[in-house]
Amino acid sequence: MNSVRPYTSRAIALVLFIVIQSHFGLAQQSARTDLTILERNIRAEMNFLASDAMQGRGSATGYERIAAEYIGSQFRQFGLEPAGEPDASGAPGFVQRVPLQVLKFQERPMLVAMVGSQARRWEYGRDLLVSVMRGPQVNGDLQVIDADDTPAKGAFAVVRLPANADRQKRQDVTRRARLARAAALIFLETEANKQLRESGKARLPELPPRVQGNAGSASDAFAVLNLRQQAFDEISTLPAGTRIEFGAATQDDGAAATWNAVGMIRGSDPEAAKEAIFLSAHLDHLGVAEETAGDAIYNGADDDASGCVSVLELARALGLGPKPKRTIYFVAFGSEERGGWGAQYFVAHSPVPLDHIVADLNFEMLGRPDAKVSANTLWLTGFDRSNLGAELVRRGALLVADPHPEQNFFQRSDNYTLALRGVIAHTVSSFGLHTDYHRPSDEASKIDFAFMTHSINSMIAPVKWLANSSFRPAWEPGKAPTR
Ligand SMILES: [Zn+2]
Repeated sequence: MNSVRPYTSRAIALVLFIVIQSHFGLAQQSARTDLTILERNIRAEMNFLASDAMQGRGSATGYERIAAEYIGSQFRQFGLEPAGEPDASGAPGFVQRVPLQVLKFQERPMLVAMVGSQARRWEYGRDLLVSVMRGPQVNGDLQVIDADDTPAKGAFAVVRLPANADRQKRQDVTRRARLARAAALIFLETEANKQLRESGKARLPELPPRVQGNAGSASDAFAVLNLRQQAFDEISTLPAGTRIEFGAATQDDGAAATWNAVGMIRGSDPEAAKEAIFLSAHLDHLGVAEETAGDAIYNGADDDASGCVSVLELARALGLGPKPKRTIYFVAFGSEERGGWGAQYFVAHSPVPLDHIVADLNFEMLGRPDAKVSANTLWLTGFDRSNLGAELVRRGALLVADPHPEQNFFQRSDNYTLALRGVIAHTVSSFGLHTDYHRPSDEASKIDFAFMTHSINSMIAPVKWLANSSFRPAWEPGKAPTR
């Protein structure tokens, strides 16, 4: 019994401690007036957006639309003005429908090399398969490279990969090729490619939809081809610079759509209100994996439910207080994962002239701290490209430069779509290259809610300062991004 008795008093003491602690903690939390943003609200929004019920918020799917409607309804609750399209009743709404055009191949694409006046041909399905196809036609000049090289701009590059090269090696050279604006890559087929090709069951490559009316430039097109050994050897031995073309005729395959959610706080100063600050994130993710055993849902808690929650909570905090002098748009873009169509459309139909946009702060993957920077600190992509980051730091932002410059994050999110149009646009993140990236394991259970609560709270004062100041950030000489 005895053992019980001392245990009982310890138990009572523990319970008392927990009650007092939680009471004081809660009291502390709710008593902490500086903590405008509360962890429970962040949990509520994260657990909804990253729930299995949202089926990974696949780009241009009904679940992406639900995410947009949800975020729009939260904007309405926070007192924001609608800045999307009229809703079903004709009243101003918070959701913007982005019409997409879907194309499909009419026939098997052909790989053609012009050798003098002779055309050498390799056929899709018989000689090759495709793992990436961004655009119905890709053309470029032949270049043969090794796995650690970066192909030239416009090159149709054959990659000599070592036999034991893994998936990461292919992804790395593909990412470098994309950034270098190469036209396409040719790999030797993997065993899995070979089996699918020889089974004769390979479907024609799927073409990504594109924003209606936006034909996209030839330089946006990109492809990754996997060739059988014989075809790979034949094309590798052609003269460097040989003109290579890959594609086929297409037809319209109906319409699709992606969705943005947009809310606004109109500036209080008649002049300054003509200038706008964008706070953005992307609301889509990868959806559900086909033919996968076990967990197939890409919940996208960090990518990018955490960004959406940051924009929501900043809307709540700024919506509650006195109106800032400048106007602020809160935007959650659709289809970032598939080409940035939501952002492309939004910029093409901007609610304010582009030169009236003071800055875009894009929030991406800030649900977990990055061990490469100090505690409770966020980082900014392209920090040295403009004077925005340094000025926000001067105003109390816990921001440092992106510690992963080799990853080219500045070019890898929606901020880049705006930056290419001249808008000072950077991404705020704390992504520490965790291995749940773009995997079904990117779950809400992995989110550090205390860190998120602290981080988002730390951005309120600097954003408020920017929205009430006349400061206009600018690109550093020679650092404005170009195509
Ligand atoms: Zn993302």
